[in-house]
Amino acid sequence: MPNACLFDPGIVIVPGCMFSGKTEELVKKARLCGYAGIRFQTFLPAIDTRADRSLREVFPDTISFSSSEELIAFAEANLDVPVMIVDEDQFGDENLPEVFDILARKYRRRVIGAGLPLDYLGKPFGPMPKLLTMATELRPQYAVCFKCGRGDATRSQRRVRFEGQVLVGSKEAYEARCITCFDPEEYLR
Ligand SMILES: [Zn+2]
Repeated sequence: MPNACLFDPGIVIVPGCMFSGKTEELVKKARLCGYAGIRFQTFLPAIDTRADRSLREVFPDTISFSSSEELIAFAEANLDVPVMIVDEDQFGDENLPEVFDILARKYRRRVIGAGLPLDYLGKPFGPMPKLLTMATELRPQYAVCFKCGRGDATRSQRRVRFEGQVLVGSKEAYEARCITCFDPEEYLR
């Protein structure tokens, strides 16, 4: 697995289900930049307003963005920030993969993103599938299955009855499950 210089241009994607430690991985990467004196900025899609378990809890100056083009505007206005860290990429708009590509190639940034590859039904979530194919480096994270304890959980099991794809929440609403224990219709019974 490549481990390029902390600020080399690139697209690093950290995929994983709920409770897999995606945000923690981003925090670690940000801290490594901090130790090395490399400037970074953290971002969250505006839809994610959680104060807990979020990148914003660790980095209060995390910027909310409604449109992925705002990331390009940031890059243009902040030439001295080589690392851009974007959590909850599944909530980004459909242009997010192209924007990451432009940031890496045209603006020479290292973009580090994390997100849920799959929604609560186990279906591809938002721009994540494209981001996974465009990454220059992948750092998949795995959770412990809440039901059987296996360490390779990749699914986010919804625990409450709610039919929409987007239900922002944490422990009261979701569990990590392995492929065997995942049952998207469980909450209907
Ligand atoms: Zn399991």
